[in-house]
This record gives sequence, C-alpha cells and structure tokens, in this order.
Amino acid sequence: MKAFEAVQLYFHRAADILEMPPEIRKLLLQPKREVTVEVPVEMDDGRLETLVGFRVQHNNARGPMKGGLRYHWEVDLDEVRALASLMSWKTAVVNIPYGGAKGGICVDPSQLSKKEKERVSRKFIDQIHEIIGPDKDIPAPDMGTDSETMAWMRNQWEKYNGFNPACITGKPVEDYGAKGREEATGRGVGILAFKMLRRLGRRPQDISVAIQGFGNVGSHAAKYMYESEFKIVAVSDITGGYYNEDGLDIPAVLHHVIENRTLEGCKGATQISNEELLGLPVDMLIPSALGGVITKDNVDRIKASYIVEGANAPIHPYADEILFDRGVCVMPDVLANAGGVTVSYFEWVQNRQYYSWDLNRVRQQLDSVLSLAFEEVWAAANEHGVSLRTAAFVIAVERVRRATELSGV
Ligand code: NAD
Repeated sequence: MKAFEAVQLYFHRAADILEMPPEIRKLLLQPKREVTVEVPVEMDDGRLETLVGFRVQHNNARGPMKGGLRYHWEVDLDEVRALASLMSWKTAVVNIPYGGAKGGICVDPSQLSKKEKERVSRKFIDQIHEIIGPDKDIPAPDMGTDSETMAWMRNQWEKYNGFNPACITGKPVEDYGAKGREEATGRGVGILAFKMLRRLGRRPQDISVAIQGFGNVGSHAAKYMYESEFKIVAVSDITGGYYNEDGLDIPAVLHHVIENRTLEGCKGATQISNEELLGLPVDMLIPSALGGVITKDNVDRIKASYIVEGANAPIHPYADEILFDRGVCVMPDVLANAGGVTVSYFEWVQNRQYYSWDLNRVRQQLDSVLSLAFEEVWAAANEHGVSLRTAAFVIAVERVRRATELSGV
C-alpha cells in the first residue's frame, strides 16, 4: 500500500462514522495543487546537477496551508501528497487556523556541502516562490532541513516579495524564529505520552521506553521524558540502536551526540540493530525516524503496550489494525507530533505582530493546545469505541468539512 492510500484509508474510516457522502469525500481528499519543479544546481566541483522538487498543497479551507520541506533520497510525489494531506488533518486536530501542505527534494542531504545545500534551497524557492507566502502556504523544516535552511529560504523569498518573516517558520531564534520551536515536536511527544499514561492510571517511573531516531524529534522527546522520570532504555539513529535495560543516562547520550554528531560509540549501552529496538520488551515505543517501520512482517515482534508516533506514518495500516486488536494504545502522528506545527503557528503569530514571546509562554501555550486536543481525541475514541487514530481523524475531517461548507463550495 502506498503512503497516500494509507492516509485515505484512515480518512474513509472517519468519513464512514461521519456518514459523509462520496462527493464531499472526493473534495476533501483531492489535493488543491501539486507542483513538480526542476532544481538545477551548480555543485562545488563545477558540475551541473538537476534535482526534482515537489510542493503539494492539500487543503486551505481552515487557513493558509502549512507543512515542512524534506530533503531525502526517498522523496517522491506520492509520499509528499500523503504528508500534505496528513498536515491538513494534523492542523485540524490541534485546531490551529491552517490547512495542509508538504514539499521536498529528492536528494541525499549528507552528500551536499553546506554551500551546495544553500544553493539547492535558494533555487527551490526561486521555483516555488509564487505559490508560497504568509497568507498562502508557509513552509517549515522537516527531515534533512533545519533552521539554517529556513533562513536561506526566507531570505530568497523576500528578494521577490519584500520583508515578511512570517513567510516561513522554524527559522533561527535570532532571525525571527520562535523560542522553543526546535524542541517543540519532541516535547509535544513527551507531553502527550505523559497525558496518555495518566489517563491509563500509570506513572512514568514505571514505564520503560525505546525511541527510534535521535534527530530533532527523538532527542527532544528523550530529554523531556528523561526529565519527567520515564526510564529510557534504548535510543537509535542511522548508525544503530543502543540499549541498557537499567536505563540510559540521557544527558550523557545527548552530550555524546553534540560531540560526535551520531550515537555511534555511545557508552553505557549494548549496540543492537534498529529492527531489534522495535522488538524490545519495553512498555512504550516511540518511532521517531522514518515512516513505515512497523509492518505486517514485524508487528508480531512488537511487545510494547503503548506506541507514540513521533515520526509521520511509522505504522503500516495493516499493522495498525493488528495492534488495535491486541489492545496496544497508539497515539497517532496527527496528534503525537503536532507540537512542531503548533509552535510554528506561534512563530507565525509573533512574526505578524513583530513581537516575541518568552520560552515559558511558548511552553505553556503548547501544553494548553496539546492538552485540549488530547482530551477531545480521548473523548471521541470513547464515544465511538474506536482507536485514538480514528478518533483524531473524525475530529479533523469534521472540522475541515465544516470549514469547507462555510466557505461556500
Ligand atoms: P532528523 O533528520 O532531525 O532526524 C532523523 C533521525 O532518524 C536521525 O537520528 C537519523 O539518524 C535517524 N534515521 C535516519 N534513517 C534511519 C533509519 N533507516 N533507521 C533508524 N534511524 C534512522 O528528523 P526529525 O525532524 O527528527 O524527523 C523525524 C520524523 O519526525 C520524520 O518522520 C518527520 O516527518 C517527523 N516530524 C518531524 C517534525 C519536526 O518538527 N522536526 C514534526 C513532525 C513530524
């Protein structure tokens, strides 16, 4: 099953509960615009490389479209389309005034020098500058891009349109970025994991956790959860997994990554594979790297009772059903990793007001937006007797449908 098909399946489950007619389903599923562009770049050795970039704008019924830009060698139109539609449902679940979009370039960012990456990023904006902007579609970082990439892109966009830092979020703090944006997705994962456990009558001290991926999402989730007294027994990155059943010293692991850039050589842990990490005898699993890592082939090896989807679409729909039948509580991506887009929204608000919030205010507002969304999703799951994922989609799809109706389609 391809990525966009999987999102459609979740959509239809919610649309069935909402008894939505086929013509409205078609309207809400169809992306508004899909753009594929050529990104020609001169490499450091003088060679000309022609890359392919995408921007899919899925829906703007609830506000300007919003979504990250990913640099990865597996980026293709189907994946971007799936992620764009997920963004429409995600912004609706947490009830921020945005639609959904996503973009990316099919490239391995680790093979680009800093100067090459800057040229790629500026050239990409040259190709899409007309369709993005603070009231149209606001990009942000995703895998392979970061705050520096956003600074180059903002600067390039402003060459065409003039000063307007709200055109892009996830910028460096000293360059109109929001305090707390960098940590927001991982922190949100931790906040929601905590809320879910409290609802289930469990304490973080009694919960062992394995986190796959130690980039922006995984490392900040680990930090927040360690500080909240969860026992983090395993972490991983592209170099492999690192496991200690007595619990990892997360501040030391974070320090190791700052010094070495990867987890490789991390002390106080046994090295395991990423696949082994997924099957560890832990209470909670937090996939925070790639999509599609829990499939029908490995779902039987999953022992965790709780899964919090830090990454987008880490669970294949077939595996999702099996996990639900087995009583595994899955916090879905559209809620679990919505902390990032929520603080991106705060950044956009601050940029538009030329005013900067302090970190405490950002954290408090993030907690309050995620808490409300969590309570709504939890209540809808109980009301309809469905998974948290289906409940989140029911809320989101209904909000987008209502906004579409009110806009007079
Ligand atoms: P990142 O590039 O900062 O980190 C990715 C991590 O995954 C790194 O530790 C990398 O080594 C690891 N990784 C890469 N390939 C791997 C593999 N094959 N096996 C195991 N680990 C591997 O990315 P990120 O921003 O942390 O994003 C991770 C996921 O979270 C993505 O699915 C992204 O779409 C999603 N997400 C990110 C944000 C955000 O604000 N950054 C928001 C919402 C969702």
